[in-house]
Order: sequence, then C-alpha cells, then structure tokens
Amino acid sequence: MSFVKGLKCRECGKDYPKEALHVCSFCFGPLEVDYKYEEIKKVISREKIESRGKTMWRYKELLPLDGEPTVGAQVGYTPLVKADNLAKKLGVEELYVKNDSVNFPTFSFKDRVVSAALSKAKELGFKTVACATTGNLGNSVAAQAVQGNLESYIFMPANLEQGKVIGTSIYGTNVIGIDGNYDGVNRMCSEIADKYGWAFANINIRPYYAEGSKTYGYEIIEQLGWKAPKHVVVPMAGGSLVIKIGKAVKEMTELGLIDKSNTSLYGAQASGSSPISTAVKKGSDVIAPVIPDTIAHSIAIGNPADGYYSVKAINESGGYAEDVSDDELVEGIKLLASTEGIFTETAGGVTVAVTKKLIDQGRLPRDESIVICITGNGLKTLEAVMDKVEKPCVIDANIESFNAFMEKREVCTA
Ligand SMILES: [Zn+2]
Repeated sequence: MSFVKGLKCRECGKDYPKEALHVCSFCFGPLEVDYKYEEIKKVISREKIESRGKTMWRYKELLPLDGEPTVGAQVGYTPLVKADNLAKKLGVEELYVKNDSVNFPTFSFKDRVVSAALSKAKELGFKTVACATTGNLGNSVAAQAVQGNLESYIFMPANLEQGKVIGTSIYGTNVIGIDGNYDGVNRMCSEIADKYGWAFANINIRPYYAEGSKTYGYEIIEQLGWKAPKHVVVPMAGGSLVIKIGKAVKEMTELGLIDKSNTSLYGAQASGSSPISTAVKKGSDVIAPVIPDTIAHSIAIGNPADGYYSVKAINESGGYAEDVSDDELVEGIKLLASTEGIFTETAGGVTVAVTKKLIDQGRLPRDESIVICITGNGLKTLEAVMDKVEKPCVIDANIESFNAFMEKREVCTA
C-alpha cells in the first residue's frame, strides 16, 4: 500500500499528481512529495522498522514509491562510528561519523537518492535515466541503471577526477563530458529532459530523488538509540541533504518514533564554492551564485538548487555554516584517516575541517553530541592528496636493509 498522496508546492501549497514534475506551474516553487502521515502513524513503529533488512528501505513508508523498490534494494544502513580518537583530537566529548563512504554499490550517499529516483522512474514507466553530476551521482546512476535494466546518460564537467570518470564509464553507460562547470551542465540537462523525455534524477524527478536523503537522517537517529543528535555537520553542494536531515528529525518526532528534541544543522562548504555558507554568515537568505574554484569538485555547485531553503533550515535550527580552504580540506581528509581509519573524499575533508573550525569558534559545544556526515570515498579523489602524503620508503629485499631502516630510516633507494 502506498502512503504517497502526491506532490505539493513548497511555496503555495498547490497539489500535483504523482508524476515527473518538479516545479509549480503557478509560482515556480519546488514540488515536494506529500505523504498520508495519519495513515503512516497507524502502521509504523520502532519494532517494525527494526525487524526489517538493514537497508534504507526499512523506512519504506516514508519513501516515495507506490510499490517495493526495484532498484537499489540493498542500499544504505551504513555504520555510525563513535569517533573517540577524533573527539579527543578536537577536544569534544561525544562525536560520531556517519560513514556513507562505504555505501553500496558506489561508495557515496548518492546511492540512496538514486535508489529512490530510479525505482520511481521505473514506476513512472521511464526506460532511460540520466543526470547532471559532479561525480558521485554519475557513478551511482550508471551502476544502478545497470541493475534496473535502464538505459543511462551521464553528463559531467570534463575536469573531474579520474576515479569519478572511470567509476562511471566502467558500467557501460553513455558518459558525456562537458566543457564547463556543473551549473552549465545542469542548465543544458533541463532542456534535454524536456526534449528527449528522459528521467533526470536530479531534475524532473527531483522530488522523489531528494526523499532518499532522509534515510541518512533516519539511520543516524536509529543508530543513536532512537535519539536525534544535538548537532549535525553536513556537506553542502545543492543544499538538499541538510534540509532532508532536518525533515527526517521532524518526521520521526511527529510520528512519535522519538521524543521531541532540538537538532542544530550546520552546513559545510569549500571557500572556493561557498554561496550557501556565505549567505548564512552574512545573515542573508539571498544566494549570490559563484563560479566554483576548488578541488572539492563533488560539492562545487555555484548556483545551488536548494540554496534558499538550506539557509532557512540552518537558521531555524539554530545552527550555522562555515567554509574552508583547499589546504584545510586536505588536512581534514588526513585528520579523519589518521584518527578513525576512514578515508573520505574532498567533500568529507571539508566537513571535518568545518567541524574543527566551528568547535574552535565555540559554535559547536564541546559537551554535546555531534555527528559528522561523511558522504563519499577517498579512493575516488586520489588527486587531492597524492602529493600530500609520504611516499613509501623503498629498501633492498634483505634483513640488513630493514635493520638499517629501523635504525636510521635513511636507507631508501627511492
Ligand atoms: Zn506553487
């Protein structure tokens, strides 16, 4: 049974049917999935959720499908790691890392939104799916399209990391590199969606796609023992994830699954692409688009689709936003790896570095629970750290050489 009523305009409240629509034709506001919460409340419980498989679909009443998922049924339920070593280093008491760098099948949180989007695309009868991507989304659409026997087209800026490009092409999809940044690619894709009638994950079926993000928030809550965290630090590209984590807390509270609590949302951006954090820091809700200039390609969106609403969500929660330089984000990647054994990509480095900054500023309290959202895997962005780590010391293959190495560490032949 489906708990989806239809789509609803976030601005004027006008209702729309469950179709491939994303913009209100009256006020141009974004459309959101609308659920029958009263019905859900009657059937959902902690016990019911806990009895199901450890995937994002254990929260299926709150996801936008009419039937069961046909793509990505194994996605989600990634580890929430209690990060005591990092906590000690940062001087805080209670710190967790929600680790989507090991999500299935393509090692980023995008597997969640794509599973929701492609399953919905199949329900709506689409045969071809596509996306405009900064990398991780393309990986996931390509892989999961294979699983769902869908044709796929991936549009990406031509300057992306090799891991992201090869990690898309390997699935036998159609990859189109575009000479330009994500924002240019995104504009072009809106026109393609109209002309070719394809389901673009993050454009014409965006309302369904975005709902997949909520599962990241539900899992944090369940894994904390059915308790919302006090503070969550979230990387921001288009700005959707921070909003949906806020929505996850709100829904679980209103459904009676958790006690009422205050969760403050904090957004993290790279200084070279920081339209959202800049607005928050200025106390403004106007997003001034920028041309991205950062090595954090996965979050380099200069004109964020959900910018306005993410500023609103952050402010209403009592949180804040910050940004860090490329050097700081590399330090963030190394800090997480060397304290918790988790190798994240550039966006994760941004999130760790922003967390450190917010703690140093006194904005994140040292004695309350903090969750850091790690959304992607470092093996995809080796370029970012390639020259920032020590090269292996090469020695001759005999015990004398190794003894000399242990004594002086100065016997490397390369
Ligand atoms: Zn409207």
